[in-house]
Amino acid sequence: MQIKLADSCGFCFGVKRAIRLAESNRDSITMGELIHNHRETERLREGFGVRIANSICEIASNSRVIIRTHGIERETRAKLGEITQDIIDATCPYVTKPQKIAETMSGEGYFVVIYGDRMHPEVKGVLSYAGERAAVVADAKELLSIKTGDRVALISQTTKAISSFNLIASALLERVSELRIFKTICNATFENQEATRNLAKEVDMMIIVGGKNSSNTKQLYTIAKEVCSQSYLIEDATELQAQWFSGKSVCGISAGASTPDWIINEVIKKAKDF
Ligand code: SF4
Repeated sequence: MQIKLADSCGFCFGVKRAIRLAESNRDSITMGELIHNHRETERLREGFGVRIANSICEIASNSRVIIRTHGIERETRAKLGEITQDIIDATCPYVTKPQKIAETMSGEGYFVVIYGDRMHPEVKGVLSYAGERAAVVADAKELLSIKTGDRVALISQTTKAISSFNLIASALLERVSELRIFKTICNATFENQEATRNLAKEVDMMIIVGGKNSSNTKQLYTIAKEVCSQSYLIEDATELQAQWFSGKSVCGISAGASTPDWIINEVIKKAKDF
């Protein structure tokens, strides 16, 4: 069995930065999961005393709080400022950018359309900056049920696929007279997606490693599956199954932006054993 790792995969710039901030601020509290990887947040808790608060009520006054990579809602940020001034902002700069765009466009009277997953913390955060006249769509079909008016600004969740974003932009162009398009998909995501697609074309099977609540990991899995039907999504090596490897000669491995190298290496090692 030959194992091939995608040319670009695993930790991105924003996640590396957040992990560095957490490791250098022992015993702090993260507002929500710092990154979407349960084992890595567990490592930070065990090794550095970094705990997770799932709501603002769990934060004692004057605690040191780290804002997660996906950012938080504007109202939550304001409330947090009333509880503590000791705030370290690990929001990825590529997430801060769509938040600012949403605020500016809404202030200029545009209806803001956000392409993304409405339950994702990043999207909830961006939406909170967009004011009343805004909507989240999962695809172009969902635009049909939304009254946008004639001036629209379009933003994407950072980890979404460019192909679907283009479809939404085209659908909007047909119905509004003024459209501002902001390509807020981040390069790290784009590079991982391209590398996964290319690798999936060369192999018999693909393993995508990452948190099952991680948007960019799920996106990689969808892309891999489109090209290589024998694709599997796992969080770590314990989920690998021997029968997946039966009769296969080349296995490709890729990983989401919040998957640390140590988890990828465990998967490679176990796959080699199979
Ligand atoms: S995937 Fe992109 S937007 Fe998300 S944390 Fe990484 S660098 Fe930032």
